[in-house]
Amino acid sequence: MMGSIIYKAGIYNLKIDNAAVYSSSYNKKAKKFHGSLTERFSRYVYLSKDINNNCWNWMGAKNDCGYGVIGRGTRCHGISKAHRVAYEIFHFTDLHKTICVCHICDNPACVNPKHLFLGTQADNVADMIAKGRNTPPPVRKGEEANFAKLTEQQIRQIRKLSKAGTSSRKIAKSFAVSKTTILQIVNHKSWRHV
Ligand SMILES: [Zn+2]
Repeated sequence: MMGSIIYKAGIYNLKIDNAAVYSSSYNKKAKKFHGSLTERFSRYVYLSKDINNNCWNWMGAKNDCGYGVIGRGTRCHGISKAHRVAYEIFHFTDLHKTICVCHICDNPACVNPKHLFLGTQADNVADMIAKGRNTPPPVRKGEEANFAKLTEQQIRQIRKLSKAGTSSRKIAKSFAVSKTTILQIVNHKSWRHV
């Protein structure tokens, strides 16, 4: 499905044409640059059946974060993220570097212009946080922690038993945990919030 199929991209046909018209009315250098970029871009796009709704996955080179990358033309033009180029082609615009292109689909490799929206760096960060990326996992304590074998109720019971004179070894056995765990609980080294 790779190749020039992008030119048959439904409602986007016109926009591709517009981009070509736009670049030909541009200066000579820009024409060459826009033309070849659009052409090269189209070679690396994988279009699935539902062109308008599905992600268009980038089949070319990707950076460490999974974003597609493409050379803009000559060496001096540098490299751009493919989804930014997608936005530029379909909206026939040049984006300033302070403008971010964000994904509604949360798929960095996607270059479907319908899945892209503009934002500032601040929007992008807010978007990432809203989607749960870029945030450290919340600190969990007690029962919420993955490793917790005991409940808060059991912690209270363990402390009660210990106060009543039951040995740590015996308590450990009946709760199927180590004696060290019991000692930490009894001495309030763990489960301090209970
Ligand atoms: Zn997508």
